[in-house]
Amino acid sequence: MFKDTITVLGNSAALPVRDRKLSAHLLETDRHSLLFDCGEGTQFQLFNLKKKIQRISKIFITHLHGDHFFGLPGLLSTMYMLGRQKPIDIYGPEGIEDYLTQLNKICTAEFKFEINFHIIKVESKELIMENESYSIYAFPLIHRKETYGYLYEQKDMKPNIKKSFVRENEIPVEWFARIKNGEDYIDEDGKVFLNNEITELRRAPKSYAFCTDTIFMPQLIDYVKDVTILYHEATFLSINKKEATAKKHSTATDAANIAKEANVGTLIIGHFSARYSNLSLFEDEAKEIFKNTIIAEEGLLIEL
Ligand SMILES: [Zn+2]
Ligand SMILES: [Zn+2]
Repeated sequence: MFKDTITVLGNSAALPVRDRKLSAHLLETDRHSLLFDCGEGTQFQLFNLKKKIQRISKIFITHLHGDHFFGLPGLLSTMYMLGRQKPIDIYGPEGIEDYLTQLNKICTAEFKFEINFHIIKVESKELIMENESYSIYAFPLIHRKETYGYLYEQKDMKPNIKKSFVRENEIPVEWFARIKNGEDYIDEDGKVFLNNEITELRRAPKSYAFCTDTIFMPQLIDYVKDVTILYHEATFLSINKKEATAKKHSTATDAANIAKEANVGTLIIGHFSARYSNLSLFEDEAKEIFKNTIIAEEGLLIEL
């Protein structure tokens, strides 16, 4: 069975560092890919990691600081030059549409395929899109600019009818959908087969939250309660807590406290300030509070 995966494309804050690019994560589902943030250099990372860029159907931008969206023109332009015709959806705060529209005019249509803009303006957690497989929510973060976090949540998949039951019983075709929708099966002789005995769940729904940039924000605990994987920024170590607060960023300790209180499965931390060269210090600090912490190493691929 296909499992969704998340790939870290960049982990640096504000400035690129040798071997550390800017903010972006790729979530690959069985049908298409979703991109969360698009810092400068994102398209190079996608090519380096052999990701198919035309598979990206939706891009979610957290905020309009350059390290989170300056990669968009390059990526869209490449998509166009490689023959893209299918539309793309871009979600983000106000200003994102102006930015790309103006640029497209100045460059005389470097990316001429259809872009559907979805301007996010929410004051608490709100559903911003859904299809039969998953839902996406946006929620406000607290930063120096209007900023949103995103939550990807798989939907319950309809159960499968057990193969052994299908083999042993001649089930009329019209019953398949009814059983998958939860009905008990009644055969021609009136014998009842309970739904939970003849079906099996295909997977437990998983979830992934992308939270950057933000100050330590207790309200976030509710928004990301019990998620499978939480990505939370950790720009600073706690020895620089004052600076983190002044610049409206978090420390590794802050991220770990959110993960612990929200009871998440795995915490990924990233968006590290360029001043630090030893990322294991972040891991050590966070693990003291939340053991299941992973550093957002570039190229890290994790199954949801
Ligand atoms: Zn940033
Ligand atoms: Zn920022």
